[in-house]
Amino acid sequence: MRYAIISDIHANLEALCATLKDIKNQHVDKIICLGDVVGYYPDPNKCVSLCKKSGLISIRGNHDDAALELCPIDNFNPIAQEALLWTAEHLKKENKEWLQLLPDHLVVDDDFLAVHGSPWDPYAYIFSSAGALRSFSYMRTNYPTISICFFGHTHQKALYTSDENSVEEVTQGTEYILGNSGLFLINPGSVGQSRDGIPGASYIIYHSEKRKIEFRHIPYDIETTQRKVRAAGLPMMLAERLSLGY
Ligand code: ZN
Repeated sequence: MRYAIISDIHANLEALCATLKDIKNQHVDKIICLGDVVGYYPDPNKCVSLCKKSGLISIRGNHDDAALELCPIDNFNPIAQEALLWTAEHLKKENKEWLQLLPDHLVVDDDFLAVHGSPWDPYAYIFSSAGALRSFSYMRTNYPTISICFFGHTHQKALYTSDENSVEEVTQGTEYILGNSGLFLINPGSVGQSRDGIPGASYIIYHSEKRKIEFRHIPYDIETTQRKVRAAGLPMMLAERLSLGY
């Protein structure tokens, strides 16, 4: 099976369209989204519609939860809060209902785990080997037959590997063959708001038989998204950071 693994779309329509166009040329069997379909950018309804239309399989992220009032917004920074209130106000009822029905994690085809933040808590961030170590130990206890977990939430590409007692972060290259032993935690980066220092959208192609991971980076029309942020009256910092890839 060939999977496209995407995450953190954040209602950025130009980034989502460019990513789905690239995915179309990759001949995948399934598209999996690791949550945060909405929040931050000005096209939550068009992005949800496109997700429905493309048949992607998604879980909910913390921004989706907050826009649905499933969690309080106090834990978000002031700019994210402002965007979430805007999103909650503009998101159509049918799109809220679609988001509400998404699970908070998934085991896909008995092959891999899909989570937003971490296997033990959808709102926790994995930023370091310490966070990865805790996730690996949770996976061993709770998902003993699963060796791969895809996670999002940090908006940064990452690949951690683990044997019984050590964790390694792989930082070089764009293609990896996953070994047949050990566990793997893999972050595709973000479609809608890259924080890798490189402007554009990121996602992963995962080939399950070859156990191959390919990180892909897609340029898109950032100026149009920035113009729409301004027109919607959303915080300008959200537009500016797209040019910086942070
Ligand atoms: Zn996010």
